[in-house]
Amino acid sequence: MFESLSDKLDLVFKKLRGHGVMTEENIKDALREVRLALLEADVNFKVVKDFVERVREKAVGTQVLQSLSPGQQVVKIVHDELVSLMGGGEDNSLDLAAKPPVAIMMVGLQGAGKTTTCGKLARYLKAQRRKPLMVPADVYRPAAIEQLKTLGRQLSIEVYDSQADQKPLDICRNALKYAELSGFDTVIFDTAGRHQIDEYLMDELVHIRDAVDPREILFVADAMTGQEAVNVAAGFDERLGITGVVLTKLDGDAKGGAALSIKAVSGKPVKFVGLGEKLDALEVFHADRLVSRILG
Ligand code: GDP
Repeated sequence: MFESLSDKLDLVFKKLRGHGVMTEENIKDALREVRLALLEADVNFKVVKDFVERVREKAVGTQVLQSLSPGQQVVKIVHDELVSLMGGGEDNSLDLAAKPPVAIMMVGLQGAGKTTTCGKLARYLKAQRRKPLMVPADVYRPAAIEQLKTLGRQLSIEVYDSQADQKPLDICRNALKYAELSGFDTVIFDTAGRHQIDEYLMDELVHIRDAVDPREILFVADAMTGQEAVNVAAGFDERLGITGVVLTKLDGDAKGGAALSIKAVSGKPVKFVGLGEKLDALEVFHADRLVSRILG
């Protein structure tokens, strides 16, 4: 078992317990542990640096309480700061308040979990009494179209009948018209991914965005890719203006620090987390749960 940050900090502060105030000197080692814990959880080093500075400012001069150990006190400061950094208390729900059909565009690198998340999201929206249509617009990976159609059958949710020889932009335009005529109120576009950002793909996504005018552009990030996800998210955000993030594969070993970094760097909220391959393994994001996981 790993020691929790709280345990580590209690060791650091052993001598201080029960008296005095926290000073630059006696908090130095504690902040080192905080820094390491965040780096281990895959938080971007620049984000960590700024963050630790803020915790230092908050902690120095704090009276050591009788009721909490100094370690617990620092953990509480770190916890509260992290929750606020992650947008705790903010409304991170989907913005679907527009004239239907409302478009949601899913973007991200190949393998991040876009297609799976389309299915999960459609299921989630159906449970909220919406009528979603899923649109496969990834013609470069023909299996992706079939994959979405299979998910649609499992969920009894209609999937637009795209073909791999059609242009993604045409598919998306036509699908939106189809949704309008057929009474769907939400359209989820599953766009193509690459192994890395490339200009051709970005141009295509920009054209699709301009054609379907999405209320939400959700960047799907694989939690296992750690800090790299931050650069990729920034790249997508710069070109497309993402509205939120879905962090997938949090059922694995990843601690989820990438979410913190993406939010800190791009300012865009994490809206959902993926917790498994099954279609019900999607949760609305809770800042305090992710923070407990990072500090755990
Ligand atoms: P895409 O290329 O971005 O469309 O990615 P896919 O949706 O095809 O997903 C890639 C792989 O990741 C598949 O094997 C999915 O089952 C898996 N996957 C997606 N989301 C999750 C998740 O939240 N947890 C786990 N464990 N696997 C996931």
